[in-house]
Amino acid sequence: MIKINENYLKLQASYLFSDISKRVTAFQDANPDKKIIRLGIGDVTRALPQACTDAFHKAVDEMADESTFRGYGPEQGYDFLREVIAKEDFQSRGADISADEIFISDGAKCDCGNIQEIFSTDISVAIPDPVYPVYLDTNVMAGRTGEFTDGKYQDVTYLDCTKENGFLPSLPTEKADLIYLCFPNNPTGTTISKEELKTWVDYAKANKSIILFDAAYEAFVNDETLPRSIYEIEGAKEVAIEFRSFSKTAGFTGTRCAFAVVPKELMAYDTNGDKHSVHALWNRRHSTKFNGVSYPVQRAAEAVYSPEGKKQVAELITYYMKNAALIRKEIADLGYDLIGGDNSPYIWIDGKTDSWEFFDLLLNKTGVVCTPGAGFGKCGNGYIRISAFNSYENVVEAMARIKDAL
Ligand code: PLP
Repeated sequence: MIKINENYLKLQASYLFSDISKRVTAFQDANPDKKIIRLGIGDVTRALPQACTDAFHKAVDEMADESTFRGYGPEQGYDFLREVIAKEDFQSRGADISADEIFISDGAKCDCGNIQEIFSTDISVAIPDPVYPVYLDTNVMAGRTGEFTDGKYQDVTYLDCTKENGFLPSLPTEKADLIYLCFPNNPTGTTISKEELKTWVDYAKANKSIILFDAAYEAFVNDETLPRSIYEIEGAKEVAIEFRSFSKTAGFTGTRCAFAVVPKELMAYDTNGDKHSVHALWNRRHSTKFNGVSYPVQRAAEAVYSPEGKKQVAELITYYMKNAALIRKEIADLGYDLIGGDNSPYIWIDGKTDSWEFFDLLLNKTGVVCTPGAGFGKCGNGYIRISAFNSYENVVEAMARIKDAL
């Protein structure tokens, strides 16, 4: 008799986006003439930068010609992309990361979900609340958690992010082996200073822990004093893996390209206390289960770092950040407490009531769709997330409707 991995039975069905969709459909049926404005999802709306599509087209043409055609590429990614990433994203900011510490992949979602496989199932895991659900669910699947009761899984150290702590997690009071951090944060839009991030690096060093640092939204950091990479913090190479993505930076959500940085200094231990290279483990896992990102996609990603690419990406980010600034201003003017939107595309708003009630209020009175914070964890209840990913015109209209109605 074939048996299932029963850890999957502990997973909470995610009704978030299906519930949203049901409510939106019901509203549209009742109000067929009302234009719905979606400020809920975390998907980008603007086209790929031209530098990327030009490089993409050129690479597709190379694939059509036998003399330039390429079959399987290196599982870790082509050198041309790994090298430009190391130089432009890290070395230029004083972070000593080399090309062979970069693993190109088809998404930060897969990377931050898969990485836990190389660690023992009996380690302790610390995860923020609210959170991007992938971190938690992949640990449930692996069997690192107990049952789900009262909105939380047993055996997980939750790092509560609340108004009281400025939505910045505090260091765990119990020992955590694997720590998930995400800055700029999804869903709260919070950022972390170098000093605060250093306390995490120091904690990880002292406890022989590893930090998984999700920097999928680093391109939205405006404030030059804030770190864009955990490797800007001294000593982080010994304790951290970083995840990056071209999804939000350059509109690659449908094109798929990302990378994980696994420094060679990073060590983890066996039951005898002997140390092992995490880089070597991840290389083994990656090359066993993954066959590389397509050549044209890697060429398109490389173009992000060309002079035109940099300019076009900066324009994209500026476009969304103009939306974010408008959302921040209008919602704050209405008397709501909020955070985010200054160095991130997400604005986290205290709805002063249950998340879903506020969601319904917004939808029914204005036709604007947000994401209820409760979908990101127990601490998200009472909040909603509004995203800046839409056209400026739609954001202007959405804010005007909200101003009239609330
Ligand atoms: N990490 C965070 C925090 C995200 O919000 C997202 C996407 O929404 C991802 C990772 C996934 O990125 P990718 O499109 O590269 O899989």
